[in-house]
Amino acid sequence: MKQPYILMTPGPVPVPPEVLEVLAQPMEHHRTPEFEAVFARCLSRLQSVFETKERVYMHTSTGSGAMESAIVNTLCPGDEVLAVVSGKFGERWAEMAETYGGRVHRLNVEWGEAVRVEQIEAELRARPGTKLVLCQACETSTAVLHPIRQIAAVVARTEALLLVDGITALGALPMPMDEWHIDVLLGGSQKAFMLPTGLSFISFSQKAWQRVERATCPRFYFDIRSEREANERGETLFSSNVPLVKALDVVLERVHREGGMPAIHRRIARLAEATRAAGEELGLPSYAKHPSPSLTALALPAGMDGQKVRAEMEKSFRVTVMGGQDKLKGKIIRIGHMGWIRDDDLMRTIEVLGRTLSNLYPEKFTEPQLRRSLEACGRTLRG
Ligand SMILES: *Cc1c(COP(=O)(O)O)cnc(C)c1O
Repeated sequence: MKQPYILMTPGPVPVPPEVLEVLAQPMEHHRTPEFEAVFARCLSRLQSVFETKERVYMHTSTGSGAMESAIVNTLCPGDEVLAVVSGKFGERWAEMAETYGGRVHRLNVEWGEAVRVEQIEAELRARPGTKLVLCQACETSTAVLHPIRQIAAVVARTEALLLVDGITALGALPMPMDEWHIDVLLGGSQKAFMLPTGLSFISFSQKAWQRVERATCPRFYFDIRSEREANERGETLFSSNVPLVKALDVVLERVHREGGMPAIHRRIARLAEATRAAGEELGLPSYAKHPSPSLTALALPAGMDGQKVRAEMEKSFRVTVMGGQDKLKGKIIRIGHMGWIRDDDLMRTIEVLGRTLSNLYPEKFTEPQLRRSLEACGRTLRG
């Protein structure tokens, strides 16, 4: 009998059964009182995910669309921009800001390391005219978690805005926008929101809104001022992604029923701990020095090919994990902890990882070691 397929990547993620059900419903029009009520409820519940009093906006786009929205709504071409680049997504955001005319200074951080707040302080001191600071909360390509709270405290003392790509953080771990003074925070549906790809979410602080009104960057699809006007009428600027918004409503209802975000954060943190414990037993430590709970990057010993491992896990066992990107290709295995993941899914992933490693590199792994890694996983999951 075929094993069930298990998707364990850091986005897209498996979605809960009730999301699948709502996605199978017939299409409705977005300009109806019924849908407008669902939409309004989602926007208001998103405020508690962002932990903000500000309105949250939705774009029909992937997460990168919200990254672009953050830039075009706050940038004046020619502005000095400081971009933390600690992996692939940091590089993407820096390129976007350059594309729109920002004078981008890259703060290159060694892959696998978190940026230090003193580095940000030094950069801002060197260029006091800096207008935007761009940082991932979690740099998904390395699984590093950056110290956003401390960075925000430093940026808040300057005229710069802190823009945070929270695509693999928001919804997976605490990221209280107002309390920490984050100016622009954004997330995407196919990561911590347990949905298919296609919606992104973004919110702007009061300090950011002053910039939004004055920013001279050309913008149309992502013009948040027009979106705000439409939302104030209870509408969206363009056609809504009706099935995904209904699915979001189901997810947010579930979160609400299960006692809010803290319960979800705890669950994700436990999956991460269990994965790291199993990795240690296999001799695959965490690649990130400050790992995010939303995903784990396990470092492979020299001489092992992570791309071969992940391909083999998929082909022989129907378990999909991610490898590394760019210079980390072949060197790490990334396992996601966001989405509809049950303890059994993680146990099976660890079992299949161990089995695949010992099939490919029989001299490097022993049966007792595979057993110990599963036991460590199970023990941590049970708490
Ligand atoms: C996935 C991801 C993105 C890009 O999201 P898309 O939905 O593929 O556009 C951006 N930033 C981070 C940190 C991500 O993990």
